[in-house]
Amino acid sequence: MKDEDQTDNRLIDSEIIQKDESSDLSLRPQKLSEFIGQPQVQKNLSTFISAAGHREEAMDHSLLFGPPGLGKTTLAQIISHELGVGFRSTSGPIINKAGDLAALLTNLQPKDVLFIGEGPSARTIKIDLPPFTLVGATTRSGLLTTPLRDRFGIQIRMEFYNSTDLVKILLKLATKLKVNLNKDGAYEIAKRSRGTPRVAGRLLRRVRDILYVSEDDIIDYKFADKALAQLDVDKSGLDAIDRKYLNVIIEKYQGGPVGLDTLSAVLSEQKDMIEEVIEPYLLQRGLIQRSSRGRFISASGWRHLGFEPPSKAEEQADMMNTPNKI
Ligand code: ADP
Repeated sequence: MKDEDQTDNRLIDSEIIQKDESSDLSLRPQKLSEFIGQPQVQKNLSTFISAAGHREEAMDHSLLFGPPGLGKTTLAQIISHELGVGFRSTSGPIINKAGDLAALLTNLQPKDVLFIGEGPSARTIKIDLPPFTLVGATTRSGLLTTPLRDRFGIQIRMEFYNSTDLVKILLKLATKLKVNLNKDGAYEIAKRSRGTPRVAGRLLRRVRDILYVSEDDIIDYKFADKALAQLDVDKSGLDAIDRKYLNVIIEKYQGGPVGLDTLSAVLSEQKDMIEEVIEPYLLQRGLIQRSSRGRFISASGWRHLGFEPPSKAEEQADMMNTPNKI
């Protein structure tokens, strides 16, 4: 059983799409020029889109990969908008029967964009179709077979956003939502958003809720800091589940290494959730490391929780840097 209260309301979970985000599609950037950050991605896409326009052909099939909440769906919509073609969207897990997919495919208009989010559906069917652009999105490109991956002429890797770009995204969203947010307030929210626009948007909405019931009238640094503390999102963007993860490894396993199965049982969380939602950010921040024997807390992970790292943590980090010692 998972801990419903904690996971289902998890503010910083980049995978969960809450009602207020999904119902407000007009808030998403519609044009490539409105998309903030990921300059390399923008530059490449703009070239491919213009080239397809010039050739008067459907754009090549494209694969977007990277952690949830970084803008893959948004980009797919932008591509169809910029190409001036229809957009249809589905997700791997929804396509259960070959017939479902066939129905979707045969309804496509020439050059349309079909967006498929993640999920396994390893089946082959053959249908005559008008030329169209398939945009696939996945959090882990390693899960696709090489022949499938090679079918995508355009492959785009999305990166976590830096704070400067997240500040721009937040200020723009605040204007659309009519929230009084200043630059320092935006910076404080950005710093705690795990490099992820979806998390930034969600934190802004919750801080706005706190503003409404307060005496204050602007989200500045002081207000954002206080509200985020109230929401239990710490200075680095870690929430209660992240800290529980780190604490379990420290208290029960002396800092690790500990295997994924054990962690999943002790935390009552699914392995996928641990690997795809909790760990990428902790790894990126250098708070944990993974070795062949399992996960362990790095020296900065110990310090983050206010502990002095044992010499073991430093030794393990050394071992990781010296492959032949393992
Ligand atoms: P993914 O498909 O990668 O999970 P989405 O495209 O659904 O992510 O984006 C999540 C949320 O973040 C959406 O509300 C979207 O509008 C917003 N978002 C993502 N990237 C950007 C960006 N570069 N600029 C502005 N908003 C963004």
